[in-house]
Amino acid sequence: MGKTSSYRVPMVAGNWKMNTDREEALRLAKEIVQAVGSLYKTEIVLCPPYVWLGDVYQLVKSTRIKLGGQNIHWEDRGAFTGEISAQMLKAAGCKYVIIGHSERRRHFGETDEQVNRKIKKAVETGLSAIVCLGETLEERESGKTKEIIEKQFRESLAGIVDFDKIVIAYEPVWAIGTGRNATPEQAQDVHVLLRSLLKDTAKDAAEIRILYGGSVNSSNAGPLFAQNDIDGFLVGGASLKSTEFLAIINAVGT
Ligand code: PEP
Repeated sequence: MGKTSSYRVPMVAGNWKMNTDREEALRLAKEIVQAVGSLYKTEIVLCPPYVWLGDVYQLVKSTRIKLGGQNIHWEDRGAFTGEISAQMLKAAGCKYVIIGHSERRRHFGETDEQVNRKIKKAVETGLSAIVCLGETLEERESGKTKEIIEKQFRESLAGIVDFDKIVIAYEPVWAIGTGRNATPEQAQDVHVLLRSLLKDTAKDAAEIRILYGGSVNSSNAGPLFAQNDIDGFLVGGASLKSTEFLAIINAVGT
């Protein structure tokens, strides 16, 4: 069990956020497909903007690369202008969906309770959820990291019993898009905390993947991945350059 468990397949997921035009999206996806083909054991996930999901799916569907969405609504359908359902993502070819990203929490007021509803809907629909949590700089500097992570974990994952379709992403808010990554030790400390919270909750805790996210690049990916409880990365900025994203995949090593 542990990091070598066949369940904890290393993962590198690229969150393209609200970036790329159609041409850029296709070029980026093609460069990644061509470079990794079907050779890698590492699970690679691309999360483009919704409107390019169909195009990117056509490029990745016969490879090991998986498709992911960046958000969902917790309802199946209805008068929710501008929203997208889990079923819609699934029909577009997604296997994954990012839920509770700090940008959604910060800019759109997403709460742990809403995150919880979204996770339940994703899992019920057959999508795997990449659940993001992490503390702000202020919370870290006032010594509240543990408290915040525990609260987010318990409230976001309340009532989840089957963790088969859950991947956790520890993303300290102060490290996202700032060029200031958590040190391997800082990240490992929180991953250990998350692993212990998982142990209280899930029978297969040792087999659940915990990713790190926050200014991951080709230089820091190796030392971060060397930590026992870091199973891969959720990558923002560096996922928009194929050479950099591929170098991160290489740093994960398989
Ligand atoms: C992210 O948005 O999930 C992220 C980790 O961004 P970046 O890699 O740019 O810090």
